[in-house]
Amino acid sequence: MPDSLSSPPPRVLRVAIPSPLRRLFDYRASHEAPPGGWRPGIRVRVPFGRRQVVGVVVACAARSDLAPDKLKPVEAWLDAEPLPEDWLWLCQFTARYYQHSLGDTLHQAMPVLLRQGRPLAGRMRERWQALTEPGTNDPRLKRAPRQAELLAMLRQHPHGLPTQAIVAQGYSREQLTTLVEKQLAVREEIPLTAAEPATEQLLAEPALPLNREQAQALAAIHERLDAFHPCLLHGVTGSGKTEIYLQLIEAVVARGRQALLLVPEIGLTPQTLARFRSRFRVPVVALHSGLTDNERLDAWEAVASGRAPIVIGTRSAIFTPLARPGAIIVDEEHDGSFKQQEGLRYHARDLAVARAKHHGIPLVLGSATPSLESLYHAERGNYRHLRLTRRASRHAPARLELTDLRGRPRQGGLIPPVIEAIRETLAAGHQVLVFINRRGFAPTLACHACGWLADCDSCDARMTLHRQPPMLACHHCDKRRPVPDACPSCGSADLRPLGSGTERTEETLAGLFPKVPVHRIDRDSTRRRDAFEQTLAQVRRGEPCLLVGTQMLAKGHHLPHVTLVVVVNADAGLYASDFRALEHSAQLLVQVAGRAGRAAHPGRVLVQTLHTDDPHLRLLAEHGYDALAEQLLAERRAAALPPYRFLALLRLESPREDATISLGREAAAMLRGWIGEHAPDVHCLGPVPAPMERRQNRYHVQLLLSAGRRSQLHAACARLTAWLEASPGARRVRWSLDVDPQTLA
Ligand code: ADP
Ligand code: ZN
Ligand code: ZN
Repeated sequence: MPDSLSSPPPRVLRVAIPSPLRRLFDYRASHEAPPGGWRPGIRVRVPFGRRQVVGVVVACAARSDLAPDKLKPVEAWLDAEPLPEDWLWLCQFTARYYQHSLGDTLHQAMPVLLRQGRPLAGRMRERWQALTEPGTNDPRLKRAPRQAELLAMLRQHPHGLPTQAIVAQGYSREQLTTLVEKQLAVREEIPLTAAEPATEQLLAEPALPLNREQAQALAAIHERLDAFHPCLLHGVTGSGKTEIYLQLIEAVVARGRQALLLVPEIGLTPQTLARFRSRFRVPVVALHSGLTDNERLDAWEAVASGRAPIVIGTRSAIFTPLARPGAIIVDEEHDGSFKQQEGLRYHARDLAVARAKHHGIPLVLGSATPSLESLYHAERGNYRHLRLTRRASRHAPARLELTDLRGRPRQGGLIPPVIEAIRETLAAGHQVLVFINRRGFAPTLACHACGWLADCDSCDARMTLHRQPPMLACHHCDKRRPVPDACPSCGSADLRPLGSGTERTEETLAGLFPKVPVHRIDRDSTRRRDAFEQTLAQVRRGEPCLLVGTQMLAKGHHLPHVTLVVVVNADAGLYASDFRALEHSAQLLVQVAGRAGRAAHPGRVLVQTLHTDDPHLRLLAEHGYDALAEQLLAERRAAALPPYRFLALLRLESPREDATISLGREAAAMLRGWIGEHAPDVHCLGPVPAPMERRQNRYHVQLLLSAGRRSQLHAACARLTAWLEASPGARRVRWSLDVDPQTLA
């Protein structure tokens, strides 16, 4: 029996423990309860096996199925007040939906310091305030211009500024303490929960007057701000979606509510943040991977307490508790980075839908190239379909021009007419972006005497040739080898790079255009944290230059001086076996193309391909993404694939091929028997080897479940995970279940 506040104190606590096991564990409630009594959402320290772990109370009960002497006591409670209810709800929903352990879900969804048992309440934070009057020129700062600047900034904020905000402006702690030592400023500590000083005015700069389409879209979203109201904001790149987000957030915050904006990993740039921070006077909290554990907890607390009305974050920010939820926005909703590809395999966009529904608030999914799922919902009227067809700037997005690679000589992957177009663009004083989805020098190394290829010993894959520094590297297991001087198979010295990667194209372009700077942007060239931003800043200054890069470059960045975009090879994505490959490569092509002609000059996009007659590619080039998406939806329906059916993928892997396959077979046999009786709507395919069966010397096997009804799919998944947890064969094989997989790889 669940316990309420008025009944006697519970004797048993059901605790979610950070463990893969999909169950709760019972503990004896210690005699000393938290001041408000035991309630769900209170963290506790409990013994678990030989360890002590931090768990979360999920339910209180009068008795346990365990004998009283088997019941271990809770060691301590860690929260006087439960963690936020909306957060607990979301974690429970997520664990159920993705068939994941609740304990592990809660653990993943809380900041690291909370996982470690640190308190949430009662923390202090620093504020810094200027002591002197504005206008006074202090002789002590004569030779310290940065300190003088810092002091000037502090003076603009009579209520003081928190450390985080000051550091974010590029000042250091040392500069702050020096000002204090010189008695020009003071440091004070205030409780973290103290309210922010009231801001009379919400906006720091005026909103842009909207064009007609924007105004209609915003009005549609505004129609109901206090009900679940999902909208697909489908607008070409540069059509002013972000301006709509800004004005929606303004309305939400003006009503005293909070707005949560999710952006792709690649989209949370200082540029984006600056745009939001310069618009609003109220705090804009950013949640990204660059935060320290302390900063992350501060941000979490600021949003959970309601002090921060606006929060912007990448995937995991969906788990931020909101004291007064007002709207959720997912920008670039089609982006793959919203899906976590390991452990708890959630999709932040899908959780955003569930969460907005739970809170009864508007949801905006924005994209120039919406996912087929979202288009499907819009077509069926589940989402309101709002379109922006025109760019705010002068020029429409450029069409894709297909250029035939067949029978033409290539230099660094580029054919003569394309090189000519690059030359003309540079001569006109503009910039060129060359998109190539392979980093490294060449996809692999080949022997022209015997046909040997540089395979990885541990994977069913080729090793990529790199020049900076020289090596062969496997992009699947990260194994590295020196580049051989002679063929390991026949001894010939005729080893040649096969195909082109970013390094080779960069090298070729640098040779062809020696007077123009070439910037390469990929994971290798941007390992240093600020390297990418520095390059972009240089590019935005506008001198003619060449940009060579992978999809890091393709998304989101505003590159006003690029007028020509070249796609080195469109074919890889078109002919990949994965059922979403076409959708994803079309989205990527459109995103890349969207980099061209965003400012004063119109843009041009040249797409090199061996298949100029490919019907999908032609549809995309001639009629655009929406037409292709419609065609792909028809194909998905015919093939009984999502969004027309629901999928779940069981992945099995171990160093032993036979053990992996035999567990797959047993699981499939068990499931087929069960399906026949309980869930006839579910189909079970496999076990089959994964598309790349051997990775890092482990064998990967999969079992695919599909169903027309979610409830049956979930029932089958629950049966499957329960069986695997109890199966002796599963102890030697690693397994994971992926509900709504984004890829079948
Ligand atoms: P999206 O998010 O759809 O790519 P943005 O909101 O970033 O588009 O807008 C693209 C550019 O157009 C930005 O420079 C933005 O300032 C400008 N812009 C957007 N809306 C308007 C408007 N109503 N009037 C003038 N300029 C606008
Ligand atoms: Zn050879
Ligand atoms: Zn490998």
